Amino acid sequence: MKSLKIHNRFTAELPADPETINEVRQVKNTLFSYVNPTKPSDPKLIHASEDVAAMVGISKEEINSEEFLNVFSGKEILSETQPYAMCYAGHQFGNWAGQLGDGRAINLTEVENKGQFYTLQLKGAGKTPYSRTADGLAVLRSSIREYLCAEAMYHLGVPTTRSLSLMLSGDQVLRDILYNGNPAYEKGAVVCRVAPSFIRFGSFEMLAARNELTNLKQFVEFTIKHYFPEITGEPKEQYLQFFQKVADTTRKMIVDWQRVGFVHGVMNTDNMSIHGITIDYGPYGWLEDFDPTWTPNTTDSQYRRYRYGNQPQIAQWNLYQLANALYPLINEAAPLEKILESFMTDFSADYKEMFLSKLGLFTSTETDNQLIDDLEINLQLTETDMTIFFRNLSLVEKSDFAPEAIEKIKYAFYKPEEFTGEVSEKWTKWFSEYLERLKAEELSDDERSQKMNRINPKYVLRNYMAQLAIDAADKEDYSLIDEFYKLLQNPYDEQPEYEKWFAKRPDWARSKVGCSM
Ligand code: AMP
Ligand code: MG
Ligand code: MG
Repeated sequence: MKSLKIHNRFTAELPADPETINEVRQVKNTLFSYVNPTKPSDPKLIHASEDVAAMVGISKEEINSEEFLNVFSGKEILSETQPYAMCYAGHQFGNWAGQLGDGRAINLTEVENKGQFYTLQLKGAGKTPYSRTADGLAVLRSSIREYLCAEAMYHLGVPTTRSLSLMLSGDQVLRDILYNGNPAYEKGAVVCRVAPSFIRFGSFEMLAARNELTNLKQFVEFTIKHYFPEITGEPKEQYLQFFQKVADTTRKMIVDWQRVGFVHGVMNTDNMSIHGITIDYGPYGWLEDFDPTWTPNTTDSQYRRYRYGNQPQIAQWNLYQLANALYPLINEAAPLEKILESFMTDFSADYKEMFLSKLGLFTSTETDNQLIDDLEINLQLTETDMTIFFRNLSLVEKSDFAPEAIEKIKYAFYKPEEFTGEVSEKWTKWFSEYLERLKAEELSDDERSQKMNRINPKYVLRNYMAQLAIDAADKEDYSLIDEFYKLLQNPYDEQPEYEKWFAKRPDWARSKVGCSM
């Protein structure tokens, strides 16, 4: 791939782990360790994104080359590069977890294209000094989920890492032991993901926790210089501006998550990017019936820390941890606290504006908070599909009466037989108020509907869809991966050939949740 313009700013400018042995250990006084991917035994390309390839400077022809297969499966190392795993720490489920690091991710290099910088990272390419007790590998099912979802999110307009390629490694990976004691081997896979950088809140937390203040300062300055070049001024002023930017982009990302019904599932501080992009697609999931208490993470089913409705609070909690990590460089709590406090007030304002836009309301009136609150309650009266409800809401016309409007969204109810008595009364009341409120909007029905359909997606990667793609891929049929990849490139468009994916979750998928490993 001669066209790739290689940069190694991270490894060239930051202190390296002096040890080069690939052995699990505590790695101090550095941000990374050099480590080569484990060579896969028989790599095979399942899917690649031509868009992402073009974005980083790889041509269509190169995607089908042997070199592409070898480089992005970990079999071969690009010349002039030295792969590395990053050292970071983090809070997991609210508890300090100490050093974590890239246990199964290896950064290949940074590349530049059209003035933008991208880090190319393999996930599932083998052990690193940070693998702790695990194997550094990834299974096909979790790799398909990550590969497809990142691209789906991008096309939904949600800030995210991107997916360049999905490969089979040709190796077997052990995740589960069956009830009869037999090992359940699965196919191993490697995803190449792409981001401006993979720096996390936890990267700074680690240096602060270890009191490596010189490294902390150097790292913050490195980050600002390369990724936030617009920040200038006195050092302390710069660190505060940096924190403000991270808070702002994180807030916008969460507003988008809530808009499309995405639940991350593992919002640990090591999974929070300083770019405010969605990172690390583990046991994520999509709200089907609108249930703010839902989480796709089965290990979190008791406290539901990472439930849909809690994502804004958790983002703020995570920002507190980042603020604590930056504090030793600033030595003043008040300006950090101010940013943290305004995170929630700004979030509430943004959330309200976003929610109103989902309703096709582009002005605001005094009664709007009530309208939103009542809708959130109504959506939980009987299982109601979030995506279908909002998409079909754009069919409602100002001249409708409540029963006509309800007819248009009724397909969103999982149990139509429950639409009686109090449920029916509450919906009729809500729609009467909504229709009245619509009259205050200047846009015509057509104009409003068009705008709403750019905000409320028609197609999302429903959990059962990912599962179908996984089941087929397990039998070496990759056609659904390609079908979903294409479908989800235009999630806001009507795509009659894919109409069957505008459907409620089938009953068999009711208890299916995301899978993490
Ligand atoms: P996650 O919950 O996926 O963000 O992972 C938390 C930490 O565990 C990170 O440091 C990961 O690199 C590490 N990890 C997760 N899965 C594996 C694995 N299969 N092998 C090695 N490390 C892993
Ligand atoms: Mg992670
Ligand atoms: Mg993960």
